Amino acid sequence: MARVALVTGGQRGIGAAISEQLQKAGRKVVASYAGNEAAAAAFTERTGIPTIKFDVSDFEACRNAVATIESEHGPIEILVNNAGITRDGTMKRMDRKMWDEVIDTNLGSCFNMCKLVWDGMNGRKFGRIVNIGSINGQAGQYGQVNYAAAKSGIHGFTKALAQEGAKVGITVNAIAPGYVDTEMVRAVPEEVLQKIIARIPRGRLGTADDIARSVCFLTADEADFITGSTVSVNGGQHMY
Ligand code: NDP
Repeated sequence: MARVALVTGGQRGIGAAISEQLQKAGRKVVASYAGNEAAAAAFTERTGIPTIKFDVSDFEACRNAVATIESEHGPIEILVNNAGITRDGTMKRMDRKMWDEVIDTNLGSCFNMCKLVWDGMNGRKFGRIVNIGSINGQAGQYGQVNYAAAKSGIHGFTKALAQEGAKVGITVNAIAPGYVDTEMVRAVPEEVLQKIIARIPRGRLGTADDIARSVCFLTADEADFITGSTVSVNGGQHMY
């Protein structure tokens, strides 16, 4: 039987590539989203992958969503915590709301989702969890104390939870993407983009598929001995 994989924020951007590659790898994928109905409808139309709308920062919403997914598709055996947001600003400009939104959506969501699938994975003695961190959680980034703290928190969360899962066949890993060619990055002015690319030893931006391939690798049944790792997928930009 195909293993059920839930990808949060899985209907566009990097998440869409992750959902599609997991589907190609034979997983029964469900993609979640926050509210972009047009992207969700187009994604399902194109791929046949079902979507479900809920706010990953809201524990009760996550509880209801996990119950719905598991009753419709079966137990979640692969969880990819990919949903994330930025609310950038220097300390002078950042307010408490910007801080809370980013911490709750990027990091709080990892607690919410892992907590809700944990007992099931323990009972079945199998689980694959991948949390999407960031190069900016490893190296920091000007104007992103909230995002860098949340992503750095994900890397620590991953190592701690991996220790709890190891005895029962649950692996927990993180991926730290560098600059990925997404809508957000494409909006950067060309001359700024060229300066960014000049700092990447590999000489190009990452693609969503670069990240998705790493997720497939870490969620394979055969990846049983890899846990607690943060895999940097950044073209050599930051060697940590
Ligand atoms: P996008 O902005 O393209 O997509 C974000 C996804 O997360 C969307 O599906 C969105 O849903 C969903 N989402 C946002 N907030 C919530 C919420 N509260 N509840 C549920 N879903 C939510 O992001 P990217 O593809 O660029 O990034 C994906 C991940 O990779 C993020 O964690 C990001 O931090 C990380 N990353 C990205 C990098 C890059 O260069 N792009 C670099 C390093 C890390 P909806 O469409 O409905 O809004």
